[in-house]
Order: sequence, then structure tokens, then C-alpha cells
Amino acid sequence: MSHVFHRSLTQSYPTAVRGDGPYLIDSQGKRYLDASGGAAVSCLGHSDAGVIEAIREQVGTLAYAHTSFFTSEPMEALADFLIERAPQGLESVYFVSGGSEAVEAALKLARQYFVEIGQPQRRHVIARRQSYHGNTLGALAAGGNAWRRQQFQPLLIDVSHVSPCYAYREQRADETPEALGMRLAAELEAEILNLGAENVMAFIAEPVVGATLGAVPAVPGYFKRVREVCDRHGVLLILDEVMCGMGRTGSLFAAEQEGISADLITVAKGLGAGYQPIGATLVSGRIVDAIRQGSGFFQHGHTYIGHATACAAALAVQKTIEERQLLARVSELGAGLRARLQERFGDHPHVGDLRGRGLFQGVELVRERASKEPFDPALKLHAKLKKAAMARGLMCYPMGGTLDGRRGDHILLAPPFILEETHLDELVDKLDAAL
Ligand code: PMP
Repeated sequence: MSHVFHRSLTQSYPTAVRGDGPYLIDSQGKRYLDASGGAAVSCLGHSDAGVIEAIREQVGTLAYAHTSFFTSEPMEALADFLIERAPQGLESVYFVSGGSEAVEAALKLARQYFVEIGQPQRRHVIARRQSYHGNTLGALAAGGNAWRRQQFQPLLIDVSHVSPCYAYREQRADETPEALGMRLAAELEAEILNLGAENVMAFIAEPVVGATLGAVPAVPGYFKRVREVCDRHGVLLILDEVMCGMGRTGSLFAAEQEGISADLITVAKGLGAGYQPIGATLVSGRIVDAIRQGSGFFQHGHTYIGHATACAAALAVQKTIEERQLLARVSELGAGLRARLQERFGDHPHVGDLRGRGLFQGVELVRERASKEPFDPALKLHAKLKKAAMARGLMCYPMGGTLDGRRGDHILLAPPFILEETHLDELVDKLDAAL
């Protein structure tokens, strides 16, 4: 019997023993095409020689130095790399160990910013329904799935939720995408006014919604309007790019494609590509300045912030992506994947929607296309699909629909950027067979 506390206490899992590019191999020698990058993590595949060498070198010279005593070269270099390429106004990087910690840091930076500038009453957060921002208590409070939060009430921060920008289910029959974007931005503004702008700290959203909706990009213009609404009311904009960032949608930051910047951007997953646990919160100059000129100290920290080996690994990952021009490849492969999905599933009676950007694609399943009626969640279709896919040597990331019918079961595809065209064929063939 395993003594590991796995999340599921009822399932058993194959033992992964080796990675080989876009494949994972289990103890029985079975190969799995990693079409989900784990959870949109493994953007460089599983055995990149350059990254392995960079980690080896860093561990051999300086594995770790606590940031209350030292800074380190890999941490400084990675921060420079990110800020040189980040949307305008972002100035500093706070390194953590994963996505939830990055969101937690963003929420606390926002809170401390308003304390420093003498507006401590601004502490209400607005997020969107059907969102996921992490599992630590603060990030959990922000997330928009009531059932995830329920058993942990009361949570530490006050959050209210507005509609997600989810055209497939939110767009009305008589509405253009632009009109949907305007309506949803107006809903955000109404919620700010309802709470009293002087009480609202931040709005948090994923530019392309990952786990909870399955690679749903916003309609054109939505985020520009959201930025305007936030600015009009002095509310900070936090973009959670933990899943959709670091090249996954074809640009290093997903915000670039929206033509906006943010006060805080969180990244994780693809930053270290799974070679080391790492996350980061990019912080705008105005927040850094307020803290520098105020207390001079961010009241938050973890033992492993700025871990030298994790930073060296992430820097090697990001430099490799840049040197091999893999972001252009993401757009190319993404188009190829989308075309194959369209060809194979465009007329499938149970595929309601195909959407996504770059190598971040989603397939939404419905009982009936015309009514968009989801399958009964009690069927646990997503779990069956995951099992069927694993049996065929395919890792994909399915998630269940909701009882209220506001989303169907969906499959998230987020494969490594190093695929060849033949892998795309294998992916779609195996997914088809599993479906
Ligand atoms: N934000 C988003 C958008 C995510 O997708 C996730 C993870 N699925 C998180 C935060 C939390 O990241 P982690 O699991 O690394 O804590």
C-alpha cells in the first residue's frame, strides 16, 4: 500500500518513471503522449538536455541562498529577462514556488499598496464566476467556484464574482462579440459602484481561462474595457497568467494579445516548465514605489522565494524557448491542432464548441449541440474520458460540467511546444478513440 497522501484516496495511478520529449513512460514501459503538459506545465517536454545541464551546474555551485541574507545571480537574471519582455509598467518580480503562491502574493501586494497610500478600506476583490486562481485560502477565496470554497468558509478576504467572458454560453443570440464585451465590462463597473469604488481593491481574471472553462479567450475589446473600468475607479487589475502565460497562447504574456498591461501579473507553470517548482508575481512600478516610499518592506514571504536552482532552471527554459523561436512554433502548431480538431470533431454530435489560442485549446462536450445542454454531471463523463485517454496512452485534462448547466464537460489541451506535426495526428487520433 502506498504511504503517499494522493489527492484521490480512491484511485490508483500508474508510476511515471521517465520523461522523453513529449512522452511520459510508466513502470510498465507504456508511453503517454503528454497532450496537456501535465496541467499546462511542461512546455519544453520532459528531458531537455540544456535545462538539465543548467540545473546540474547551478546545484553544483549554489543550490539555494535564503533571500533574507542574499540575492543571487539566477534570480537577478530571471527577473531582468521577464521585465525586459513584460507589458509596460511592470518593474519588479517577486519569485515564489507556484501559481497559488503567486496569486497570494498579488492579493497581498494589492492590499498592502492601498494600506501604504492611506486607503486601507480598499480591500474588496472582484473576480469572475467559473474561475480558478489556486488552492491556498486567499487564492481559493478569489476563485469563482462556490463548491470549492464552501467547506472552507469563512475565508479571509471578501470577494464578489461577475460573469466570465465565455462567448459560447454568455453571448446572447442578438449580440455581437463586441457588445458582449461591453455588457460584461459594464457588469464589472456596476459591481464596483455597488460595493462603492472606495472599498474595491482589485479585479482578478485570467486573460484566457484555463482549467475551469477549457481555454476560453475573451472577446475582442473586453480586456481593454476592463482596463478602462479599473482605471476609472482606481481599482488594480491583476491578470492571472499562471496557466495561459509564458508562451502558451503564442506570446510570452497573454496580455500582449489584449493590448493591455496590468498592475500585477502572475505566472507559474510554464515558467519553469516542470523542471523546478517556481512561480512569480510581476509588480508595477507604482506598487513597488508605494511600498518603497512607505514601510519599505513587503509583509509576506516564503522560505523558498527566489530559489537559485529554480530560477536557473526557469531561465534556461525561457532562453531555450527564445533561442529555438518556439513561440512562433506555438502559433503554427496551434493552428495545426485547431484545424485537426475542427476536421475531426467539427460535426461530432457531442462537441459543442472548439476554442483556444496557440497550444491552449479546448473542446466542450454537450448532450445536444442545438440546445448546448451539458451532460448530467452525475455521469462523470470527464473522469471516464480521462481514463479512456490514459488507457490509449494520451494525457489530456478533462473537467466536469456544472449542475446549473453553465458549462459542459470540457477537455483542455496544452501540449509541449516541441511537438512535430505527427504528434498532432497521434493526439487527435487518440482523443477521437477515447471519446
Ligand atoms: N491560477 C491559475 C489560473 C491556475 O490555472 C492555477 C493552477 N491550475 C493556479 C492559479 C494555481 O497554481 P498552483 O497549482 O501552481 O498553485
